[in-house]
Amino acid sequence: MSSFPASADRVRDAGLASRDRLLALRECVLCFQPYGFRATWHHLIVSADVPRNLDDDPRSLTRAVDELEEARLVWRAQSEDYEARRRREKAAGRRDASRADNWRTWAGLVAYCPDLEKHPTERLVVVVRRVIAAYESGVDPLKTCRACGTQVTADTPCPDCGVDPAGPTANRPEIRVRTSFRWRAVWRRTAR
Ligand SMILES: [Zn+2]
Repeated sequence: MSSFPASADRVRDAGLASRDRLLALRECVLCFQPYGFRATWHHLIVSADVPRNLDDDPRSLTRAVDELEEARLVWRAQSEDYEARRRREKAAGRRDASRADNWRTWAGLVAYCPDLEKHPTERLVVVVRRVIAAYESGVDPLKTCRACGTQVTADTPCPDCGVDPAGPTANRPEIRVRTSFRWRAVWRRTAR
């Protein structure tokens, strides 16, 4: 898999064919996908208003990668702070990471949405910041949605914003089956 920065450069390269720029955006989302791949993709396409015919608005791809990169920088700053803290803890003899920090190991997949079309609609960086703050405050994510603050239960995604309280390891086959046929239309940008 190519790196995020190299792929982001390709998305912004106006000299490349639009289709290649779209595939580079796909690489970026494979690297950083706060809602999971499909829901993050759907969010960016809608939010940047990427048209069915890419050449109608080639700059839309730049808007999409800008939004994703902005959120990724916030995530990375958090990760770097955490890694520095862990190094200090290890030096002080604390080998095991706290279980409360498990979410930091999810590679940025901090607000998994099993239904690709139901996810928060605010700018990605706003949601990623709020989710990080919710985790760091110690609020129980199985009771309070870490993305929107709604009261939730562990057995179903948040009814308001679609984020799964159980995180990326939640198994929701019924939702995947119900929504996966929509993916084709989303990928072709024939559906919003
Ligand atoms: Zn929510």
